[in-house]
Amino acid sequence: MVIRNAFTIDLEEWFHGLTSTNPQVERWPTFESRVVAATERLLALLARHKVQATFFTLGHVADHHPALIEQIADAGHEIALHGYFHRFVHKLSPDDFAREIERTLEVLQPLVGTPPIGHRAPYFSIRSTMGWAFDILQRFGIRYDSSLFPMRALLYGDADAPRQPHRRPQGLWEYPPSILKMGRLTLPVGGGFYFRALPYSLLRRAYQRLTQQGQPIIFYLHPWELDTGQRYPHVTPRERLTHYHGRDRLAAKLERLFADFTFGPLGTLHRAMAGVA
Ligand SMILES: [Zn+2]
Repeated sequence: MVIRNAFTIDLEEWFHGLTSTNPQVERWPTFESRVVAATERLLALLARHKVQATFFTLGHVADHHPALIEQIADAGHEIALHGYFHRFVHKLSPDDFAREIERTLEVLQPLVGTPPIGHRAPYFSIRSTMGWAFDILQRFGIRYDSSLFPMRALLYGDADAPRQPHRRPQGLWEYPPSILKMGRLTLPVGGGFYFRALPYSLLRRAYQRLTQQGQPIIFYLHPWELDTGQRYPHVTPRERLTHYHGRDRLAAKLERLFADFTFGPLGTLHRAMAGVA
């Protein structure tokens, strides 16, 4: 089957991606770990629909749950990189960014066997002008990246970045999450909060439009979005909206998405688009 759309997961704990809890690394061991149960629920959903995906894996998760990473890889999913501590890349020095990548590769390589070729920055925190970050990724054997969010959002975004998949001058390929202009609206339909908040009928129209334009759907999700058992721990009002809104309806929405469209790992889509074996 030809893979035309990519399904990707940012594999992290609930407290890694919240800007309130992320900086408190010394408190992380006191927070309840919920990533294994949430990911197993997601894996079961993917298996039911025969969807293989890319898991952009946080090094810290792989360090603490190596068996989970092996389970994901054994199920045929692609393992790629999501940094080690879930830091904003644009706030890191080049040396610190390189260390994040190197440390994550050191944890993942023995678990996965084959070297990962994909990367997504935490918080989509790479902009198209940050050539140094792309250079570092290529130095570590990364062939494709999915870190640009080509519209201005609350915490992130690079409105000047191209919306379509594209090859950068140095050869690395970039796959931004799907964003579509519909009339006067610019709709981020690639996943996360927006997928939980927007009605499915509108999302489906957007995906059909992308397909008609010959563009792949680049979709992203986090295991914690499927964790309906967690009741708002110490989060800010903004985080309660962006991280908790619509979790209860998400699984049913994903069932509809998988019934309507076919997905595969981003690495497989990349090989097809870039013409590499
Ligand atoms: Zn993340």
